[in-house]
Amino acid sequence: MVYLRGHHLICLRFFQGQGYDAAFLAGVEEVRQRLAAGEQIVVMAGPDAVCRVCPWLQGDECTHPETTDAGIRKMDQAALEILHLTPDSRWYWPQFTPRELESGFAEWFRGFCRECSWRPACQAHPDFQALLKKIGEEALKS
Ligand code: SF4
Repeated sequence: MVYLRGHHLICLRFFQGQGYDAAFLAGVEEVRQRLAAGEQIVVMAGPDAVCRVCPWLQGDECTHPETTDAGIRKMDQAALEILHLTPDSRWYWPQFTPRELESGFAEWFRGFCRECSWRPACQAHPDFQALLKKIGEEALKS
């Protein structure tokens, strides 16, 4: 089982090999391989399989300078609402396609992607570009 927090269910979808350091990248790649192999996802709150290899995790708190642990948890909650999941939901990566994101993507983009420093990395992903195209520029302004 792979334990993942809410916002990683979305952000990992657009991961293309950028990250904080070599250990983080190796850890995320391992997670991605397990997901691609069909291992079951257990949705959780708090630090997950990705956070466990992240240099910003201190104890059980995210210390990333762009946000706060409370901010990260708010993002998790928003992601779960968009995906209609709750902590403890079971899920499989192959069943998660960009389609699942279509209805909530404008809100997600406005709330979290627009100011995120990882946005250029995600925006280089074809699925991200397709979602942006779908919601249209107008939807991003309000
Ligand atoms: S500890 Fe924070 S910055 Fe690191 S992966 Fe988790 S949420 Fe992201």
